[in-house]
Amino acid sequence: MSEGSGPREDLGFDPEALRARYALERDKRLRDDGIGQYVEVSGELAHFVEDPYVEPGFSRKPVTDEVDVVLIGGGFGGLQCGARLREAGVEQIRVIEKGGDFGGTWYWNRYPGAQCDVESYIYMPLLEELGSVPTMKYASGAEILAHSQAIGRHYRLYDQALFQTEVTKLEWDTEASRWIVSTNRDDAVRARFVAMANGPLHRPKLPGIPGIEKFRGHAFHTSRWDYNYTGGSPEGGLERLRDKRIAVIGTGATAVQCVPHLGETAKELFVFQRTPSSIDVRDNTRTDPAWAQNLEPGWQKTRMDNFNALVSGVPQESDLVDDAWTDLIGRTIDRFRRAMEGGTSGPDIAEILEISNFEKMNEIRARVEALVEDPRTAEALKPYYRMFCKRPCFHDDYLQTFNRPNVTLVDTDGKGVDRITERGIVVKRKEYEVDCIIYATGFEVGTSYARRSGYEIVGRTGRTLTQKWEDGVRTLHGMHSREFPNCFILSMSQGAFSVNYPHLLDHLAIHLAYIVRHALDNDVRTVEASEEAEEAWVQAVLGNMNPMSHPGGGDCTPSYYNMEGKPNPKAMQGAPYGGMTGSISFWSVLKKWRDAGKLEGLELRS
Ligand code: NDP
Repeated sequence: MSEGSGPREDLGFDPEALRARYALERDKRLRDDGIGQYVEVSGELAHFVEDPYVEPGFSRKPVTDEVDVVLIGGGFGGLQCGARLREAGVEQIRVIEKGGDFGGTWYWNRYPGAQCDVESYIYMPLLEELGSVPTMKYASGAEILAHSQAIGRHYRLYDQALFQTEVTKLEWDTEASRWIVSTNRDDAVRARFVAMANGPLHRPKLPGIPGIEKFRGHAFHTSRWDYNYTGGSPEGGLERLRDKRIAVIGTGATAVQCVPHLGETAKELFVFQRTPSSIDVRDNTRTDPAWAQNLEPGWQKTRMDNFNALVSGVPQESDLVDDAWTDLIGRTIDRFRRAMEGGTSGPDIAEILEISNFEKMNEIRARVEALVEDPRTAEALKPYYRMFCKRPCFHDDYLQTFNRPNVTLVDTDGKGVDRITERGIVVKRKEYEVDCIIYATGFEVGTSYARRSGYEIVGRTGRTLTQKWEDGVRTLHGMHSREFPNCFILSMSQGAFSVNYPHLLDHLAIHLAYIVRHALDNDVRTVEASEEAEEAWVQAVLGNMNPMSHPGGGDCTPSYYNMEGKPNPKAMQGAPYGGMTGSISFWSVLKKWRDAGKLEGLELRS
């Protein structure tokens, strides 16, 4: 492989050498089993997904009544749909939620140090509606969970909600034109409409490491944090770990936030790394009360739009959020614009973008070198792949944690952990004995929609959604799929990609509320995507793909962003719509569609 020809004078580094290094690091990590390397969390591993935040033994009578809308999931998706439906005057709304309360990802992910990575003023939904302003630029998980509950109260979504309840099946009753929603508590709720707001990263996954079931010590997944074992709270102070040897497997966004707290108290901490994350500056600050008091009506939407435009490559007069996200993407775009003004085109532009990406990653690597004292550890913590091949992370204490004498980075050089034994973890024939293994190994992506949701959807023709999507996702606007009338899907597939996911959900919630209101006002019994409209949308998605959907595809280092390095045409069909400015174009498609008032592409039956 080429080592390059030395630093380019105008840049101070050698792009060819970096390209070669990136390819080398990617190749180390490619595996035949791709997404199959993770095991299903069921059977003897099922305890890993039990809810640690509720008292065991809850029971209630089955519910068999009828409502206008069932919202599956009480996270931001369900909450935002509930809010917009209430605003549209819909009364009978039932949220069905597996957890014991609202909050979704923030209900489950209570690990120490959890906080949002996108600025809270744009990330936390419905702030103006609730008259609140977060206390920090990046709010803590606990504050976001409390805000979720406040949304539930404000919009009276607790009234008919069913918590600690898992949907097991959705089945369309053609005669009655109703969905029958079955659950693990023997409910059979009848619903005119259903919205599936299951969340994109919902089902925890465990690595298929040989021996995983043999470990005799304690073990849990980060999305089911065991504070009984660790002591402390989401703010830290994990005092019960003072005499414990702890292993963390995984170094993604979750590990980056919890490792500093573990390092603070554990007697010994071993962090098992396969691929280092890119760690940029966090720089969290308290909300300035004077700023909060002087916000003009409409401030949140303006700020959300401004951020979304900047990170989609659309220049703005000001950068309201002004953080590492807008800096990251803004700088690349600035370079791009200057090149365009200078008359550059075609392949040159790709090179300009690549160079700017190299520069950013050089900064990230230099930051590691500046903060981590041991040169070997520092080298192992440097990410060698393009920005956006993996989820960028932001933290001001993570890297320094490796300077602590009780903390060891066990770098597996891209191979992952070899084996788990009764006593601990084996890497390169060395066994690390530990008292507890914490799996920071993320959530399923790329498996079938029904598997990730935990229930099957049986439509008008008796076919399941899994059967219908066997050769790839097929929808109109990512929300409707033919044969599944009155059913709304809330996801990015054939919808939009946004760095700020709740912003996307708000557009979907507004759209859904519009359609439901229209149906209720006009005695429309069913709305269903037409064959032609669905086909046209699938083609529109395929012809106008968002490059962020599978960034770099095959030449990126593997992660859930690119189906673990094995993107396939079937998976690509489920990509978001809309080129570089994806979400902006998609939202404009939805708005124009509503403004036209014709519900084009939906077949309406009375
Ligand atoms: P990820 O899927 O991002 O990370 C999983 C980690 O486990 C990776 O480091 C992976 O390595 C590692 N891994 C898997 N198998 C093995 C193995 N056999 N041996 C060693 N390591 C292994 O999960 P996260 O929970 O960290 O994050 C998931 C997503 O949740 C994020 O991308 C983000 O979207 C969201 N999130 C958001 C936060 C926020 O907004 N504040 C905070 C936390 C999460 P490899 O990289 O090599 O695959």
